[in-house]
Amino acid sequence: MLIDSYDRVVDYLRVSVTERCNFRCQYCMPEKPFSWVPKENLLSFEELFEFIKIAIDEGVKKIRITGGEPLLREDLDAFIKMIYDYKNDIDLSMTTNAYLLKGVAQRLKDAGLKRINVSIDSLNPEVAQAIAGKDVLKNVLEGVEEALKVGLKVKVNMVPMKGMNEAEILDVLEYSKKRGMDIRFIEYMENAHAKADISGMKSDELLSLLKEHYNFEDEGFDGASPSHYYRMDDGYRFGIIEPYEDDFCKKCNRIRLTAEGYLIPCLYFDEAMSIAESIKRGDIKGAALVLKEVVRTKPEKNRWGGEDGELSSRAFYETGG
Ligand code: SAM
Ligand code: SF4
Repeated sequence: MLIDSYDRVVDYLRVSVTERCNFRCQYCMPEKPFSWVPKENLLSFEELFEFIKIAIDEGVKKIRITGGEPLLREDLDAFIKMIYDYKNDIDLSMTTNAYLLKGVAQRLKDAGLKRINVSIDSLNPEVAQAIAGKDVLKNVLEGVEEALKVGLKVKVNMVPMKGMNEAEILDVLEYSKKRGMDIRFIEYMENAHAKADISGMKSDELLSLLKEHYNFEDEGFDGASPSHYYRMDDGYRFGIIEPYEDDFCKKCNRIRLTAEGYLIPCLYFDEAMSIAESIKRGDIKGAALVLKEVVRTKPEKNRWGGEDGELSSRAFYETGG
C-alpha cells in the first residue's frame, strides 16, 4: 500500500498520455503554443504500462487516462486493454474533450474502459468556440451520445467563468440531468498558462445562482472524491470541486504521471521525479523506489488559495488536470 507522510493512502493514478490537444481552452492553454515535447520523448504505451503494473502491484486501484487530449494518441484502446487484461477490476476511466469520441467509443468500451468524464463548458456553439478556440460543440455532443449508446458511464465537467459561460450553467446542468449524467463544476484554478483575464466563479457564487432555480441539500463529501456534493429534491446530485478550500487536500489520494514519465505528487507544485530512465532500463525496483519517494514527498496541501501570491506554473495540459 502507498501511504504518504500525512497518512493519506495513495491509490489513484492519473496518466497523461499526451500534452498535445486539439482545443485551446482559455483556462488551460495559451492560444499559440510554444514547442510541444518531441514525440520521441514520450513513453510508449508499453513503457507506460510497465510503470502502471508497478503502481497496481503497490496498491493503485483507480486509473484515469487523461492529457492534453488522450484521444489524439493512436491505439489508445490497445493501451486500455493492456491495463484491463492485467487487472480487470481496476476502476479505469478517461477524461476527454470528446471531439474525437464518436468514432472510438465502442472500441474503448470493448477494451475495458468503464467511465469517461467529458468537458462541456457551454451548449451554445459560439460560446463553446470562444472558450475552446474552435468550433467544437457538434462533435462533442455527438461523442457524448455515442458514449452513452455504447454503455459508457459519462460525467460532465464544467469550469464556470464570469462573463463567459455563466449564462450556460443551467443549460449544461439540465442537459446532463436529462441524460442521467453526473455534473461537476470545477472552480477555475489560476495558472500561468491560462488567459490572464479569466475570472472563475467560486462555489458560493455558483450555489446562489443554482438556489434561484432549484432546492437542494448539502451532502458533503463522498469518499476520497474531491467533489462537494449537493442533492436536489428530485434526487439528482451535482458536485463542485473547490480546490481553494482549506480541507480540499485532506483526502487527496492521487498522483500523476506525465507522458514523458514525470511522476507528480501534487497538481499545484513543480516538483516531479522521472521514472523514464528506470523503465527504459527495465529497472522495476528503481521505478518502484521513485514511486515510493514521490508518495513520501507529497505535499500536505496545494496553494491555489495563494498563500504566497504566486501563480502556479503547472500546466494542466501536461498533468491532465
Ligand atoms: N482534454 C481533456 C479534457 O479537457 O477533458 C482532458 C485534460 S483536461 C486538462 C482535464 C480537466 O481539467 C478538464 O475537465 C478541464 O476542464 C480541467 N481544467 C483545465 N484547466 C483548468 C483550470 N485552469 N481550472 C480548472 N479546471 C481546469
Ligand atoms: Fe485541451 Fe482539455 Fe486543456 Fe481544453 S482543458 S485545452 S481540451 S487539455
